Amino acid sequence: MEYVSTRGSAPALDFEGVTLAGLASDGGLYVPREWPRFTEAEIAAFAGLPYAELATQVMLPFVGRSLDEDKLRHLCTEAYGRFAHVAVTPLVQLDERNWLLELFHGPTLAFKDVALQLLGRLFEEFLSRRDERLTIVGATSGDTGSAAIDAVAGRENIDIFMLHPKGRVSDVQRRQMTTVKAPNVYNIAIEGSFDDAQAMVKRMFNDPAMTGRFRIGAVNSINWARLMAQVVYYFAAALQLGAPRRPVAFAVPTGNFGDVFAGYVAARMGLPVERLIVATNVNDILHRALSAGDYSAGTVTPTAAPSMDIQVSSNFERLLFDCGGRDGAALAEQMRGFEATKAMRLTNAQQQGAAALISSARADATEMAQAMAWAWQNCAELIDPHTAIGLHAARAADLPRAVPVVTLATAHPAKFRDAVERATGHRPRLPARVGDLFDREERFAELPGDYAAVAAYVAEHATPSA
Ligand SMILES: *Cc1c(COP(=O)(O)O)cnc(C)c1O
Repeated sequence: MEYVSTRGSAPALDFEGVTLAGLASDGGLYVPREWPRFTEAEIAAFAGLPYAELATQVMLPFVGRSLDEDKLRHLCTEAYGRFAHVAVTPLVQLDERNWLLELFHGPTLAFKDVALQLLGRLFEEFLSRRDERLTIVGATSGDTGSAAIDAVAGRENIDIFMLHPKGRVSDVQRRQMTTVKAPNVYNIAIEGSFDDAQAMVKRMFNDPAMTGRFRIGAVNSINWARLMAQVVYYFAAALQLGAPRRPVAFAVPTGNFGDVFAGYVAARMGLPVERLIVATNVNDILHRALSAGDYSAGTVTPTAAPSMDIQVSSNFERLLFDCGGRDGAALAEQMRGFEATKAMRLTNAQQQGAAALISSARADATEMAQAMAWAWQNCAELIDPHTAIGLHAARAADLPRAVPVVTLATAHPAKFRDAVERATGHRPRLPARVGDLFDREERFAELPGDYAAVAAYVAEHATPSA
């Protein structure tokens, strides 16, 4: 399997290459040169497989010669063995039509564990083969940081430096990062906002003084391997609900468009997906783009669903590339325009191609709270604010009656206890597996919002690559 850049000029790479590269050298994102496709009979034969085995079968066409089937199976078995539920991503029924796909049974209580537990193991495997080291540098507004740290803590040949905006992540989120004791984990609280921290990370990727000494790696969802791992649970859910005979719709709380793009890939692979519903909060650039062709960034409004508080959605570029005729040169031009003006129009081909499968909806704070209250009062389910935005969109969707609608439950309600309590009157309890989080000792550096200070800290603590 070969991967090409959405901007057309970076070299094609194999799976191992794209996993270690993250972003393509022309600024684009890697996608498979063509989508592997399963027949209806092949999909039917997946029914009833344990999750790790289903993951092996769904991902095998993507890894090509980079991993043999037994190695992939071994990595999946280890990654998904860390989940607290034997079904890994269980389905829960809400009413005659609506279902929740619980993606939060991993170690850090959000869906990012599903992809990152595998990615950490892929990094370790590929680095040890090459006898290379990786210095992961990332910025987090909460969920990515803890999931990435858990996934690479104690792994060979990897150091991780995670920047979070000081005082602006929740106590649970901060402690999930700062109480990890492994010596290859470095947490840094930065004076400033998430955007300030993110800007420093981007600068480090382009700083020859750093890239000359360290192989700097990324764990955000521009990494293809993360999206690939998320394709699996779309298959798992649809098979439970009668695929391939019966089509299924999905409502996806969306920020960087990674999770919903994985659903798009599942459809391209032959899974009968009736519709993908992109659900946004009031930071609705994706809703405007999909409903009116207007992709223009405003300013970020903080909400109770912080992992969706974004204005520029990195993975949307992958959809525009695939729906717009896979013309890398044209897309590079379009994206340059967007980077200069923070606004662009979708082409007709992009808009129509997307609309064939994807619709969108937006929920404000009241609608989000009402969805949490509805699930609690009618189904005795506590759901988190991100999931609530998805459920609001699912219940409003205009779909044939017989089509089940699966809302992706992206975080455990205990991760956002205050917002859940405000909406339902009920305070969710932290699950036992993180029970002593508030008794563990924290360890992190505090640095000013100054690039030179952060670069010096990383240079002092990271092990140079050979
Ligand atoms: C990251 C995150 C999202 C958004 O997912 P994308 O792949 O960026 O669209 C939604 N909900 C939660 C809880 C998250 O952590």
